[in-house]
Amino acid sequence: ATETGSVKMFFFPFVGGGHQIPMIDTARVFTSHGATSTIIATPSHALNFQKLVTRDQNSGIPITIHTLPAEIPNITGPNIDTTVLLQPLRTFLLSHLPDCIVIDMFHPWASDVVDELQIPRIVFTGTGCFPRCVYGNIRKYIDIESMSSDYEPFVVPNLPHKVELTKSQLSIFARNPSKFPDRMKNVEDKSFGTIINSFYELEPEYADYTRKEIWKKVWIVGPVSLCNRSLEDKTQRGKSSTIDEQGCLKWLNSKEPSSVIYVSFGSMVRLPPKQLMEIAYGLEASGKSFVWVVREILKSEKNKEEEDERWLPEGFEERMKESNRGLIVRGWAPQLLILEHGAIGGFLTHCGWNSTLEAVCAGVPMVTWPLMAEQFSNEKLVTDVLMIGVQVGSREWSGFGEEWKEVVGREKVEIAVKKLMEESEEAAEMRVRVKKIAESGKRAVEEGGTSYQDVDALIRELKERKVNGQD
Ligand code: UDP
Repeated sequence: ATETGSVKMFFFPFVGGGHQIPMIDTARVFTSHGATSTIIATPSHALNFQKLVTRDQNSGIPITIHTLPAEIPNITGPNIDTTVLLQPLRTFLLSHLPDCIVIDMFHPWASDVVDELQIPRIVFTGTGCFPRCVYGNIRKYIDIESMSSDYEPFVVPNLPHKVELTKSQLSIFARNPSKFPDRMKNVEDKSFGTIINSFYELEPEYADYTRKEIWKKVWIVGPVSLCNRSLEDKTQRGKSSTIDEQGCLKWLNSKEPSSVIYVSFGSMVRLPPKQLMEIAYGLEASGKSFVWVVREILKSEKNKEEEDERWLPEGFEERMKESNRGLIVRGWAPQLLILEHGAIGGFLTHCGWNSTLEAVCAGVPMVTWPLMAEQFSNEKLVTDVLMIGVQVGSREWSGFGEEWKEVVGREKVEIAVKKLMEESEEAAEMRVRVKKIAESGKRAVEEGGTSYQDVDALIRELKERKVNGQD
């Protein structure tokens, strides 16, 4: 990457695990290819990745954080008032004019500022090509609003594979396209291009399709989590782990290879006690060992005042401890470390894009339990296209806002976990397939690999643009 020189790239991530972690990793990937990167953040946001960036700086890697002198607490979605950040962002950009700025799609307001200053703006969407194609074609070819049944499966038109979804599994914007904010749409339409955290070999037909049908320019640069190579890199990804990492690894060391299922629903979703209870019963009945991450618990309106509504069956933790069968992590787990441990043989996941990619890269097949956002389409990629997962059988959006629509019963959990974790030809084949994809993911980011080349191609393009003084 020596010929790439020093292109000045800014990154403006959205707050929150699933968007922030991969964008910071993307910034680190570009610096490792010779760019200088600056991450723009608010003061509280910057604390989330300060350690990681400081470590990079100490090793001479040209990456910095610029903290805007303004704060917006509790950023939860694209529709928040960001007025206080406008002026500081404009001032900073004007005085430092970067060669490009990579902006999360949930910062449409920032796009307005960047476009006004005519800085090349690149969108970071946080998902892969497959979900983008699925949603792109639904928007293009289907009148969802007038669809009468919520649960009747329909086939998404014009895709390389047969992909079936139901209205109840679609994002709110897809269900009500008229409510899709114009600003969000403009973010991509008017951009210089899009960076995708995926790799060509994972979804070749959809990468091609994306390039042809959906966007003008696309750089597929992942899996960016693979830039986290050291133990510290893998643990300092935004939040400190709630458990002692060494203790967790020691526990896993005591287990047979591929015998433990890792259970986690990502960084945002909060499950209600009644759903957690079903998971506990299901895991116990499966007879399999597990590491289960339980983040904040969703309290129902009427139980808001109650401190601790029960979410575990009587004596559950004692039983799991005595039999050494399960580890519950209350809070934040070192997910990359856990997934890469040889004792892990499956991942029960909500199919967030990052979790999905991280599982694939670790060569771990999945029990898929999508809840919201584009997770139902990610599930289809895992189970129907790549055939490296078993569906738990969730049928509709749950976990957005305070409502919790669907409680998946313990039997479904038990059946899916057993199906993935027990010795069967089907499960063995899934294991072989996912390990093969993991290898191709590793190759993609190595010198000469597809993602490696895309990173260099973007840097080269920005450099040429700079030399030629183009707008
Ligand atoms: N994550 C983690 N520890 C946790 C929960 C999540 O490290 O206890 C990380 C996980 O590795 C992934 C990100 O948080 O990189 C979650 O992103 P994803 O897209 O899977 O889901 P989201 O949080 O956006 O729903």
